[in-house]
Amino acid sequence: MFDVDISKGYVDMPVPEGVDLVAEIERMKREKNAVVLAHYYQSGDIQDIADYVGDSLALAQWAAKTDASILVLCGVHFMGETAKIICPDKKVLIPDVNAGCSLADSCPADRFAEFVKQHPGYKVISYVNTSAAVKAHTDVVVTSSNAKQIVESFPADEKIIFGPDKNLGNYINSVTGRHMLLWDGACHVHSQFSLEKIVALKKQYPDALLLAHPECKREILIIADKVGSTAALLRFATQSSCKRFIVATESGILHEMKKSNPDKEFIPAPPDDASSCGCSECNFMRLNTMKKLYNTLKYELPEIVVDEAIAREAIKPIRRMLDISASLGI
Ligand code: SF4
Repeated sequence: MFDVDISKGYVDMPVPEGVDLVAEIERMKREKNAVVLAHYYQSGDIQDIADYVGDSLALAQWAAKTDASILVLCGVHFMGETAKIICPDKKVLIPDVNAGCSLADSCPADRFAEFVKQHPGYKVISYVNTSAAVKAHTDVVVTSSNAKQIVESFPADEKIIFGPDKNLGNYINSVTGRHMLLWDGACHVHSQFSLEKIVALKKQYPDALLLAHPECKREILIIADKVGSTAALLRFATQSSCKRFIVATESGILHEMKKSNPDKEFIPAPPDDASSCGCSECNFMRLNTMKKLYNTLKYELPEIVVDEAIAREAIKPIRRMLDISASLGI
């Protein structure tokens, strides 16, 4: 459509001076029949302009039912791939294709396929944070919102491989009594929270409840008052009578937590690594910006493309997840 350089992984064009980004993005959405789907880990300005804000499961569910012609996925690459696999006839855009995921990267498709081959007779359950190529070797995809229920939908003696997040896998094993074989992967954001610093915060704010995502390490989950997906943590904080929370997940969720609960205080859990930025932001998620979103809508680039043969296989476990979730009312 346009001759635009996207060699950097995003449209590197200046935004004309004086442009009102919010108004222009809204106008282009209307004119192009486009919707913006944003993950809770996006920056607040992107969440505010999105048509849908949610966790990975909600984004996949919305992608499955929208009749828009263009989907702009403000999240990371595997989320764009999932949307494209669900909606092969729609144009799926992402503001910056460099928005990857350390957890998905910890599970290369060729090594995962080899692992699966070494364990014949095992069912394969993959977390949604995987490439399309890994999903193509999977029986059913899960998210942190439905992992427990989907694992429990298998017979108790079913032999299961679970990948790639070992922390989530360990957590699901602990709450279901299963003994799934786990892939050794982790997210660099969720695995860095400091037990010591969180315990110190709990001492400083004894009334605060600790909310933790199951991608966190076991030592954090053990002391958490609530373990759940981003959507579940948000729901819990909203329904709780408690007024203060320590939040052990990517800090983007604080935007919606504060918006929905202006009378409550949310404290981001601190990371372990003193040499890091000291925050709990996902550097991949934050590659998407309002300026890149504006250019993505304007030039309809970069577009998510998934190999057709891979997509044909990957849609099966994604559909199975959506079907099981619908039947369970999740
Ligand atoms: S927070 Fe972790 S799991 Fe989520 S996109 Fe970033 S690297 Fe991946």
